[in-house]
This record gives sequence, structure tokens and C-alpha cells, in this order.
Amino acid sequence: MENKKIADLLYPNAKPTSFWEQKYPPRNLPNGAEVTRFAPSPTGYLHIGHFFQSLCDKFIAKSTNGVFYFRVEDTDKKREVADSVDVAIDTLSQFGIEYDEGVLKGGKEKGNYGPYTQSQRLEIYNSFAKYLVEKGKAYPCFCEKPENFAEILEKRSEQLEENETLEEKDVCRNLSFIEIEEKIKQKKPFALRLKSFGNFENIIKFSDVVKGEREIRENQKDIVLIKSNGLPVYAFAHAVDDHLMRTTLVVRGEEWYPSVSSHLELFDALDFKRVKYAHNPVICKLDENGNKRKVSKRKDKEADMRFFVQAGYPSNAILEYLLNLANSNFEIWRKNNPTTPIADFNFSAQKITPSNPMFDFAKLNDISKTIISKMTAEEILSNILLWAEIFDKEIYKILSKDKTYSLKVLNIDRDTPKPRKDIAKYEDVKTVWGYMFDDLFDSDYELEDTNIENMKEVLKEYIKIYEPNDTKDEWFDRIKEMSDKLGYAVDNKLFKQNPQNYKGNVALVCEYIRIAITGKKNSPDLYSICQVLGEQKTIARLMFL
Ligand code: GLU
Repeated sequence: MENKKIADLLYPNAKPTSFWEQKYPPRNLPNGAEVTRFAPSPTGYLHIGHFFQSLCDKFIAKSTNGVFYFRVEDTDKKREVADSVDVAIDTLSQFGIEYDEGVLKGGKEKGNYGPYTQSQRLEIYNSFAKYLVEKGKAYPCFCEKPENFAEILEKRSEQLEENETLEEKDVCRNLSFIEIEEKIKQKKPFALRLKSFGNFENIIKFSDVVKGEREIRENQKDIVLIKSNGLPVYAFAHAVDDHLMRTTLVVRGEEWYPSVSSHLELFDALDFKRVKYAHNPVICKLDENGNKRKVSKRKDKEADMRFFVQAGYPSNAILEYLLNLANSNFEIWRKNNPTTPIADFNFSAQKITPSNPMFDFAKLNDISKTIISKMTAEEILSNILLWAEIFDKEIYKILSKDKTYSLKVLNIDRDTPKPRKDIAKYEDVKTVWGYMFDDLFDSDYELEDTNIENMKEVLKEYIKIYEPNDTKDEWFDRIKEMSDKLGYAVDNKLFKQNPQNYKGNVALVCEYIRIAITGKKNSPDLYSICQVLGEQKTIARLMFL
């Protein structure tokens, strides 16, 4: 009776929880369908770990014919950064992570289980807060920090002396109706706390979809559920929202694992069916000292998903790479199904790799190069231009000036059974193909270990015999002939030993020509490069020394 009176006093206008239960009925989904959600806090950017989680959520929902929705957890106003929601929405869309329900741009949303933004759900939280107070499972705490903080500390040290344990129970735990009424009359703000009945000494078993059976200590802390500003904390909003939005599987970072016990207690106190948890591994990397650590926003550019967009990685490359980290059978599946869209991969929550994976740029770049190598020149050019229009105006201008020429460049060594794997991200076009465009040509020639005098000799000779209309065979024969003749210049010693039968060093001759044309010692097919560059440019480049 006393609890009911306190509940009415604290939340006089709250609707009964049955109102919300009816408004958001259980979903009518086939057996085994999982309802998953991605629920970031708007803190300015999308961390790769969060994105990894959204990818798992999306694929789990898809492979079980379930629902995947997007919720905004904006109850920590101190950490909030303007535009974050748009950044998250844009990033999800740039990587093709579509959701069935949730927050859209411009304050809109889709789905029948909204609002999907926590700060718009305060009325709902109040109903469930009232329910807990009525059941004697929550109480108002009027302690004001820092004024009464000393009092709390004192109380705690008394507890320690008496019981040798720190119960983390609040001084307001056992206030009577009269005392509470008095404080409410004085308009004292209060936070709502869970009245925990747990005991830290007890170990509970808990089944994690990713990590299997785990043991954790029971919660005994009277955690805050609603702050004095009326906003819920994560634990409470998580329980209420995931229950009412009919989530079946919460995929979240391992950092949440220590609070599982309080979340379970809360689900039980609210008489909710417990949700299943999949605590995802944390994406790590090696630091300078060889120690494994979490990819961090402060230290690593790859922590922010916008980095991959800005560098021009094709979205599929990132998805494939992360799917590889998430489900180790993805790699074999991809090998056996090289052209199947990734959406057809049968993702499994149970197969999420439990150990923390290492972020490996070499592997990502390899996957990305393979993906780009399979695109047609038209596809690459169109992707590069779409990217460059936003992120690199110079490349955009240069490559869009003469699209026919750009296509010819991108087609070099492409239309073959084993196309070149040279670009991992669209910004690479500058370093990889820059020499095909005068405006991007890097005149920092790779000349170390090069005998400049010999090179001059070769180039002088080559200009004389160069025939722009040669077929590839004719071109090569001409180079061979010239190499035999030029033995004195490129291979003086061997030539002197046997001038009659000397076989020219074609490789070295080609290297000299290649450096002059491209600035580099390695390049795709030299003949094709000269053909695409055309007579004028080729000759101009040959005259560089
Ligand atoms: N808002 C929480 C975060 O940003 C979400 C955790 C969860 O997915 O439950 O980390």
C-alpha cells in the first residue's frame, strides 16, 4: 500500500504499463526470427566497433527473416554532439546497411514501435518507473551531489565496518511515504534507483550467444534508473525499449558485459522476458610496443567509419572484410561463391568469432583490390568520379576532363583473365595511375641504382626507332633489336666479351624506358601505357634527361 502511494506521488500522471504493452504488441514473426537493433549514442561519429555491431545485427535479422531497427540513445546530453544522428544515418547508408524501422533524417522515422529516439520516450519510461516503485523495486533518491556526497561516503564506511562489504545501497533506500512526501512538497529533485535484492556473493550462470556459458556475480548495486533531470540511464532505457520494441537479441560490445547482472535483475524486476545477449568481440590492433589494444578514436584513423568513405574504399570491401572478422566461414564461402552478392551469405550469430580480432589493413586492402579488379573500367571510373566529386576535386577535374582517355587508362591490363590488383581505394588512383595524367605526374623519378649515362644513351636511341603505330610484337622486336645493338651502352662488360653474339638486356632497356615514361621501375604493360599516352606525350617523356 505504502509503495502504491509513493508511486502515485512520484508519477501521478503516468499511464499504466498495460497501455504501452497494447500499443506495442509482440511481433508476428516466424519461428526463429530475430529482432535486432543498432542503438548508438550520438557522440559525433560512428566507431568501427559500433559499425561492426550494426553489420552483425543486419545480417542476423536478414538470415532469420527477422527485423532490424535503428534507435538513437540520446539520454546522455553531456556527451551529445550535434549532427551525430545524421552522421550515423549517412554512414549506415553509405555502406548499404538498410534498416526496417527507426530514425530517419530530418526528424522523421519509420516503423510501428517508435518513437525510436530515447529522449522522446520519457512518458513511457515514467510508466515503467512507476510500476517498479509500486512493486517496491525502485525508490526515489534525493541525495544531491556534491552536498550529500560526504553523507553517502560516511554511510558506506559504516556499512563496511558493520558488514565488511560495501553494499552500494543508498541512504534514501528506506525513506517512508511521509518523508518522501515532505521532500516532494519542497520540490526536491530526485533520481530513481533500483532497489536491488541481489547478493554479490552469488554467482549466476548466463548464456551469451557469442561467448557461450559465462558466470557472473549477481548485482547488488542500487543503480540509478532515472536521473534527477528526468532522463533514464542506459540500463533502464535498454530494458524498457528492448522489451517494448520486442527485441529478441541484443548484439552489443563486450564493454557492456560487466553490467549484465544489473540488466538481468532489471528485466526480472520489470517482469519482462529476458532478452538474449551476444557480446561482440572488440576490434583491436597492435600498438607500437606490440601490445594488443582496442582501436581508439584518439589514436587510430580507422576508428571513425568516415575514414574509409573519405579514402574511397568501395563499401563492399569494408563489409566483406568485417564479415570475415565476424564469421570465419565467410572467407571459404566467398572463395566458393566469388560473384554472389554478400547479402546471400548465411550469417550466424552463433558463429561470431568470440576472440578479439585484429584490424589488418593489408588484408582489407587485398580484399578491396580484388573487388576493384573485378569492376569494369566504366564502373571504376564512375565510382571514382562519385567519390572524387566530394573528396578530391583535383582528381575529379582531371579524370572527368576526357572520360574516354580516363577509361583507356583504367582499362590497361584490365581486360585479361587476371586483371591487375592495384587500387585498394579510389584515392590510390593518384599514386598508382598518376603518371598517365600530366597534371598528376610525379616527377620524383625512381632513379636509385640507375646508371644515368646508360639510360640517356638508351632513350636517345629509342626516340630514333620509336614507331607509334607498331603492333605489340613489332614494338617488342624493335626493342630487342635495339637492345642487342646497345650492348655497349647497357652491358658493357658482357658485350665486350662477346660482341658478335651478344644478346641484349631487354629487361634493363625496358626499365630505362619505363622510368622515363612513368617515373617508376614497375608498371603495367609498357606498350599499352605508351599507346594510351600517345605519340606526343611518349616522346616528351622520353626526352626528360
Ligand atoms: N547506446 C549504447 C552505445 O552507444 C548502445 C549499447 C547497446 O547496443 O545496447 O554504446
